[in-house]
Amino acid sequence: MWKPRHWGFARSRKEFENTAVPADESTALITSQQEEEDKTMIVELVCVGTELLLGNIVNTNAAYLSEMCARLGLSMYYQTVVGDNEERMTKVIQQAVNRSDVVILCGGLGPTQDDLTKEVAAKVMHVNLVEDEHTRNCIQAYFDNLYANRPDAKITDNNWKQALVPEGSIILDNANGTAPGLIMEDNGKIVILLPGPPNELIPMFENQVYPYLHEKQPEVIVSRMIKICGIGESTVEDRIRDLIDAQTNPTIATYAKTGEVHLRITAKAADQEDAKKLIKPVVRELKLRFGKNIYSTDEHKSLEECVIDLLKDQNLELTTVESCTGGALCARLINVPGASEVLKQGFVTYSNKAKHKFTLVKKSTLKDQGAVSSKTAKEMAKGAVESTGCDISVSVTGLAGPEGGTKEKPVGLVYIGCCYRGKTYVREFHFNGNRSKVREQAVVQGLVLLRDCILENYYNE
Ligand code: ATP
Repeated sequence: MWKPRHWGFARSRKEFENTAVPADESTALITSQQEEEDKTMIVELVCVGTELLLGNIVNTNAAYLSEMCARLGLSMYYQTVVGDNEERMTKVIQQAVNRSDVVILCGGLGPTQDDLTKEVAAKVMHVNLVEDEHTRNCIQAYFDNLYANRPDAKITDNNWKQALVPEGSIILDNANGTAPGLIMEDNGKIVILLPGPPNELIPMFENQVYPYLHEKQPEVIVSRMIKICGIGESTVEDRIRDLIDAQTNPTIATYAKTGEVHLRITAKAADQEDAKKLIKPVVRELKLRFGKNIYSTDEHKSLEECVIDLLKDQNLELTTVESCTGGALCARLINVPGASEVLKQGFVTYSNKAKHKFTLVKKSTLKDQGAVSSKTAKEMAKGAVESTGCDISVSVTGLAGPEGGTKEKPVGLVYIGCCYRGKTYVREFHFNGNRSKVREQAVVQGLVLLRDCILENYYNE
C-alpha cells in the first residue's frame, strides 16, 4: 500500500534558473539520471474551472506550464479545459491518463464544494483519500498566522478537506496557500495536482515539480536561445525556411515578440556533450545569417539590458525625449537595475509648447511639418542632447490613434530619432494595431535604433 510522502525539494528560484540556464554559455541544460530509457515522456495538461470556460479568467497557467514542460523536453500533445463538473472531469482525466505518461491537473483544489479535482483524480487512480497530519498542521499554521490579530476568527470546517490526500501520494507543500499539491504514481502513470492561483502554482512547480520531472525525464535536453531585433518574423522565417524544413534534431522554434523574434534551438541526446555537438553548427549558421541583428544569446537578457550594457561599455550618457510613448521607453530602460549610471533624464514633451521649450524644436518646424514629422523627431533628438549635454538621445513622435490620422499622416505613423556624435538619424515607421500596440512597437524600435546607432552609426534618413 502507498504511504504519504513529502517532497523535500526547497530550491530557490535562482537555483532553478541556474539549472535551466547555466550562466557560462547561456545554454539551458536539463539532464536526466534515467538515460537508459530512450523515450520522451508524453505530458498532458488539464485545467479545471468553469471560470476558464466562461472566459472570466485567462488561462495563464496553461501558457506557463506548457513552456516549462517544453523546457523539460516533455512532449505535450493535448491540453483540455474542463468545468467543475464531476462527470465531465472524470471522463477528461480518465482519457488523459490512458493516453499520456504524465497528467498535470491545475485548479479545483480549494476547500469549497465545487473543488472536485482531487476527489475525481483519486477515483480515476483507484485510491482513497486519507487525512495527512503534516498538511493539517500546515493549514493550522497558515490560519494561525492569518488570524494572528483576529481572536474572533475561526477556521471553517471545510478547510480541513484540504488535509485529505490520495493514499500514497507525494505531497507538495504550498508556501502561499492551504491546498497542497499532490503527485500520484501508479503503473508508469503520473498524475500531478496543482492549485489554480498562479502565485501558488508557479513556486510549487519551480521548486518541487520541476526537479521531480527533471529526474524522470529519460533524455538530456539542451536548448539555446537566439534573440533577434530589427527584422520581422516573416523575414526571419524566410531566411531559415530551409533549416526549419530540414530540422529533426535539433529543432528550431520561432517566437514572435513585439519588435523581436526569438529562436530556440533544442537538441535531445544521450548526454549533454552529444546534445551540445548537435546544437553548435546550427547556432553557428544562425549567427552567420542574422549577424548584428542578434542582440543576445542569453535566455534572460532583454533588449533594454543590452542597450544599457552598450551605453555603459561606451561610457555614454543618455536622455530620452518622448511624445506618443509618454515615457514608456524611458520606463523600460529604468527597469534595468543600474540604468542610472547611463540614463540621465527623460522628457515627455507631449505638447508642441513642451517640444519647443525643453528640446528646442523650432516653432517653424512644428508649424510647417507638424509634430509628427521626421524633422520634429530630428530636432527633438538634437535639442535633447544640446539642452542636457548628454552624449546620445532617442526621440519618439507619432500618431498612436485611434483618432487624429489623415491620409498623409495615418494612425501608426511614428518617427524615431537618435542623436549621436553630432549626427542625427531618423527612422519612419508605419505600425499596425491599436493605440497600445503602436506605442509598444515604438518603444522597441526606439531601443533598436539606439542599439544600431551605437553599434554602427546606422543612417537612414
Ligand atoms: P482556491 O483554493 O483559491 O479555490 P483552487 O486550486 O481551487 O484554489 P481554483 O478555485 O480553480 O483553484 O481557482 C482559484 C483562482 O486561481 C481563480 O479564481 C483564478 O484567479 C486562478 N486560476 C485558476 N486557474 C487558473 C488558470 N488556469 N490560469 C490562471 N489563473 C487561474
